Amino acid sequence: MEVKTNLTNFLSIIPENVKLVAVSKTKPVDLILEAYDAGQRIFGENKVQDLVQKQPLLPGDIQWHFIGHLQTNKVKQIAPFISLIHGIDSLKLLKEVNKQAEKVNRKIDCLLQFHIANEESKYGLSTEEADDILKGSEFSEMEHIRIIGVMGMATFTDDTAQIIGEFKKLKNIFEKLKKEYFSDYSYFNEISMGMSGDYKLAILEGSTMIRIGTAIFGERNYHN
Ligand SMILES: *Cc1c(COP(=O)(O)O)cnc(C)c1O
Repeated sequence: MEVKTNLTNFLSIIPENVKLVAVSKTKPVDLILEAYDAGQRIFGENKVQDLVQKQPLLPGDIQWHFIGHLQTNKVKQIAPFISLIHGIDSLKLLKEVNKQAEKVNRKIDCLLQFHIANEESKYGLSTEEADDILKGSEFSEMEHIRIIGVMGMATFTDDTAQIIGEFKKLKNIFEKLKKEYFSDYSYFNEISMGMSGDYKLAILEGSTMIRIGTAIFGERNYHN
């Protein structure tokens, strides 16, 4: 009941050009199905183990997004079905995604994750690291991945000005990469930013994809 209501609310307030990733991590299959029945098709998970458990139990037209830190040795498990990987933060990971995608004869869409927050703990590339990847010959030879945009997480804070500043930073990175590396590629058009606490700001700053967990499914309980 509540999931449906929250979803309907969300779908009515977000602009048409913004995609909603329903973050279902820690949530059971029946809740995900409830959201599916309300029309939601994109779901995000951050643990490979949970994802491979849930995926076969749910409808085949769900687009699964991987939104967390992805370990290289686990890429193989999600390569057959993953629709978008949000957290590419190294050349090594990108190479592994390319390799595993080739094995299952797929081309996997990816976002480069950037470190935009003040917090030490958040993963992500610097612009220098991204330049190194995108200029490299290894990247130009990868035929089984497609970089379709960028992703970032703002600092967890009440300071609206700071959050806005961090989202602007990500938007600028996107524009710079678009100009320097992807000007001929219209598929490079996604900016994944905004969560339950800051999605309104993210949309104002140009987000094309918001990742919402708590505001749809309620608080997460990591102990069950
Ligand atoms: C958990 C998570 C979200 C969703 O967070 P909420 O605050 O519950 O909306 C979004 N993005 C990432 C990367 C996450 O890990």
